[in-house]
Amino acid sequence: MMTDKSDQPEQLMEQPKEQNDQDIGLLTKAIESINSVSSTLMQYYQTLEDRVKVLTDEVDQKKQLLDSILDSIDVGVVFFDKDGVIRLINKASEGLLGVDSGTIVGGTTLHAEINEDIVVPEKGKPFHALISSSEVSGGAGSTIGKVLIFKDITRLKRLEAENERNRRLSAMGELVMKIAHEIRNPLGSIELFANLLANDLKGTEQVDYARRISNSVRTLVSTLDNMLRFSGEIRPKMEYGCINDIVRETCDEFREVLATGGIEIKLSEDGRYSFHLDKDLMRQALINMVLNAVQAMQDGGKITVRIEREPDQRGRPSYVRIAIRDNGAGMDEETKARLFEPFFSTKDRGTGLGMSITLGIVAAHKGRIDVDSLPGRGTDFIISLPTEKRSEKRVQ
Ligand code: ADP
Ligand code: MG
Repeated sequence: MMTDKSDQPEQLMEQPKEQNDQDIGLLTKAIESINSVSSTLMQYYQTLEDRVKVLTDEVDQKKQLLDSILDSIDVGVVFFDKDGVIRLINKASEGLLGVDSGTIVGGTTLHAEINEDIVVPEKGKPFHALISSSEVSGGAGSTIGKVLIFKDITRLKRLEAENERNRRLSAMGELVMKIAHEIRNPLGSIELFANLLANDLKGTEQVDYARRISNSVRTLVSTLDNMLRFSGEIRPKMEYGCINDIVRETCDEFREVLATGGIEIKLSEDGRYSFHLDKDLMRQALINMVLNAVQAMQDGGKITVRIEREPDQRGRPSYVRIAIRDNGAGMDEETKARLFEPFFSTKDRGTGLGMSITLGIVAAHKGRIDVDSLPGRGTDFIISLPTEKRSEKRVQ
């Protein structure tokens, strides 16, 4: 029994040894394969991790790109998720609505009211806007929220309003021109008849009335002429004529009527000068200058007009000067600087067209205007006109 008993364990011991070896072998193999699987897994994991990193980088880059695009456009973009919570707001929206993304994102209010096409921010200026709102789909027919897009069109609206105003003004301008044209001719006749009447009434008390009519009408006619001239291009019809005659006629027209207001007009000339000019335009320019001189001398004064040849300068065509001097109110620096601007006037009822038209007329004759003036002392205007064509001069 004892031996049996002692034998048995020996057998038992021996059998497990083989078994053990086998088991160890199996275990080792198992561990080896686990190790290999694990290292493969590790490799997979590493590859996956690398892939995830690449994808995350890509997503980051795309997000950055989207952010920079959203932040660089001048259109407001706000994204609400499907619960109405603000998830994204771009820089333009922050600026337009006067809000800060830090305090707005996560909330449900934009702190602004939208009335039709006007956005009224709680803080900041109301503005006209083009607004659109659209659902954002998350694929497969589902909706992940809503995007609100708005663009400030205040400037556009202002331009539209300005455009409309300009259109009305230009229509009004056309109407005014038509009226000016309609009344210009009858006024010319009134002026002519008033002059005839004044001549007939010479020596009587009534002569003064006729002269006053004539003078007022002349001022009106010259205003209308300036208006009519302003609406179109100045195209002189050049013909050979004597500038002295035009200046003399203009002075004579004014002389008698001005005398009643205590204004004397004197003409002096150092010769007679004939060249190509547009008589009507020249007359208009001179009337503008004389009227300005008269209007600058409310308490009477003296206008001297002188025609003289400009001292010859070598290589330059010869010029004739018409100098118009008054001892009226004169001009300060600002007035002098803006004198030729259309519509610039220091007078209550001035149109501000006289000098700009006069400059246009003189320029159309290739001439120039110089001015010298002192407040309280008076004004000197000098119109210089070339007496021969430059091309002729060059041929010689
Ligand atoms: P308007 O006579 O309708 O005012 P003008 O174009 O003829 O327009 O003149 C523009 C402005 O130039 C006048 O309003 C006036 O201030 C100034 N000006 C022109 N001529 C004279 C002058 N001889 N003396 C003083 N100011 C003058
Ligand atoms: Mg004037």
